Amino acid sequence: MKHRILPILLALALLLSACNLLPEAGAKPRAVSESSIWAMDTQMDLRLYGDAEGVCMQRLTALLNELDHTLSATAEDSALTALNRSGWTDNPHILRLAEEALAVSEETGGALDVTLLPVSRAWGFSTGSYGVVPAAELEALRDNVGMDKLTLQPGAGLSIPAGTALDFGALAKGYAADLCRAELEEADCAGILSLGGNIQTVGTKPDGSDWVIGVQDPDDPGHYLLTLGLTGSRAAVTSGDYQRYFMEDSVRYCHIIDPGTLAPVRGSLRAVTVIADSGLWADALSTALFVLGREAGEALRRSRGDFETVWIEADGRVWVSPGLAERVLEGSYEVIRP
Ligand code: AMP
Ligand code: MG
Repeated sequence: MKHRILPILLALALLLSACNLLPEAGAKPRAVSESSIWAMDTQMDLRLYGDAEGVCMQRLTALLNELDHTLSATAEDSALTALNRSGWTDNPHILRLAEEALAVSEETGGALDVTLLPVSRAWGFSTGSYGVVPAAELEALRDNVGMDKLTLQPGAGLSIPAGTALDFGALAKGYAADLCRAELEEADCAGILSLGGNIQTVGTKPDGSDWVIGVQDPDDPGHYLLTLGLTGSRAAVTSGDYQRYFMEDSVRYCHIIDPGTLAPVRGSLRAVTVIADSGLWADALSTALFVLGREAGEALRRSRGDFETVWIEADGRVWVSPGLAERVLEGSYEVIRP
């Protein structure tokens, strides 16, 4: 096991920083622009570099607001709410998300399921009336749940039956990160974005140094268990039981639902981080891997070979996939067998 102490300076800087991005080390480079907005139900922190960073910031803000308006499962006038009411849509963002969600669901044995909205609501997520749902009530919801409820004609339309409602909360921020990345690359801007904890790096920092990202401590999210140095355009997304949850009888009920039991996932896992080239896949896989757990999740990682993982277990142990170990800058961890 490796053990290093996080530099006191870094910890102090984090305490002083209200934003989700780690502060810049050293002098601030020229042409850096920072902004925080509220969209898709979360705080988004954007830090951009490059000659066109001002224009890029405006474009990203417009894009994120458009996605917010389209994909909200709670807003009365969103395209997603229209689909959930009418049973049909041809909105291109929703068609693309449905297509990718079907692919990730297939890859993960159904661990990702975007039809769980009525189940999440029953547990109180999005309504705020939290409470343990009786088994009979859950079983009554089962008829409306399952990825086989989606009938997709790619590029043309998506239909769902009455009683079924979709929620892309598990992958929408990753999709947004992919679209932001494309905008930035087109304008030759580099940057690092934190879309509610979904970290997306784009391009190379002007000084050529690594992008430094932190993996939060589930017991103290203001503190980082690991810091990692990434290069180029990468997505790093964490799903954890500490992000949204309620407590009842000393039991923690988190916002990620196991499609098998229709109950919040319970087990020895506190959080999993997925690092991949695609923001959408990193986001969707982190949610699915939280459902699957470390053993099945690692089997999938080994067979796909296109993403890296960090697992934080309830016993406090941190496990890192072999390809990521050399990227760890600070923190204690164990390396998963290849
Ligand atoms: P994330 O924070 O990316 O892990 O996504 C969690 C969100 O996705 C929840 O707040 C729900 O809106 C939704 N969700 C919960 N469980 C699942 C699941 N098993 N598959 C797909 N979406 C889910
Ligand atoms: Mg996710």
